[in-house]
Amino acid sequence: MPNLRPSPISPTVDFDADGVQHGFLRLPYSRDDSAWGSVMIPVCVIRNGEGPTALLTGGNHGDEYEGPLALYDLARTLDPKDVSGTVIIVPAMNYPAFRAGTRTSPIDKGNMNRSFPGRPDGTVTEKIADYFQRHLLPRADIVLDFHSGGRTLDFLPFCAAHVLPDKEQEQKAFAAVAAFSAPYSMRMIEIDTVGMYDTAAEEMGKVFVTTELGGGGTSRAETVRIARRGTLNVLRHAGIVSGAVEKTPTRWLDMPSGDCFSFAEDDGLIETMIDLGESVEAGQVVARIHSVGRTGGAPQEIRATMSGVLAARHFPGLVKAGDCAAVLAVVE
Ligand code: CA
Repeated sequence: MPNLRPSPISPTVDFDADGVQHGFLRLPYSRDDSAWGSVMIPVCVIRNGEGPTALLTGGNHGDEYEGPLALYDLARTLDPKDVSGTVIIVPAMNYPAFRAGTRTSPIDKGNMNRSFPGRPDGTVTEKIADYFQRHLLPRADIVLDFHSGGRTLDFLPFCAAHVLPDKEQEQKAFAAVAAFSAPYSMRMIEIDTVGMYDTAAEEMGKVFVTTELGGGGTSRAETVRIARRGTLNVLRHAGIVSGAVEKTPTRWLDMPSGDCFSFAEDDGLIETMIDLGESVEAGQVVARIHSVGRTGGAPQEIRATMSGVLAARHFPGLVKAGDCAAVLAVVE
């Protein structure tokens, strides 16, 4: 039986009203410093008449910045005269995590992208997920969710969609990825799809597009430019914002199987042997993990299981057993 309890979140915006509204998704959160307090998640709605609805999100993970930078900017600058339909912008989806600068929420350690479909009577993170699941995703025709590598990973700048059982839905998602026009476009697979926002949107039949644009717990000028241009391009492609898509060259990449992920088997000092975007042959050493407890030990060598390019790498210099050390992708 689905839990039909209403969401505790109340929006201060009207999603069906024309014009620009800047408001909040207000989530009651009683705590030591605020007995009747709330988490105030910023939301912007820009609507101009009938038309498709785009749902744009950043800060699903709180330490990823290209999405929030592009989306706070879009909320401030998008003129409803240029819109046909509705743009719903939540620049910092896991707002407590975003304010803490951490991947997961400091309140409940909730990882937003492992919390779907959420619960109206769950943790703060689960309550936010439930609101997206039952109130925001159903409104959307197209969903763009920004990610970057956060503090522990660094990625080639790419826009991505997933291979889906429904080929028409998949084709629409990859057409939106092409419109985004990131330097790289990825046919992406996931290590574990359970609880992901991506999966929730895709299971609802939505056109779902995501990104990985750099990482390391910061942003770069170039990746923010890519995010800004890509957002407008997706909105133009969807017919929501007027004007032609600004196409720039992209290289298509494929993650053909779980073999593209490499994991550290020891703690130590990681030495990535090639940089992002550089080519490797199958069998070549991609990274070495040096023991630090004593001198004289041979490093653990991580070898490429396929020929391709380095698409992502562990970012901090120290690595722990089990950490994702490198991700390879095949050039199409
Ligand atoms: Ca992420």
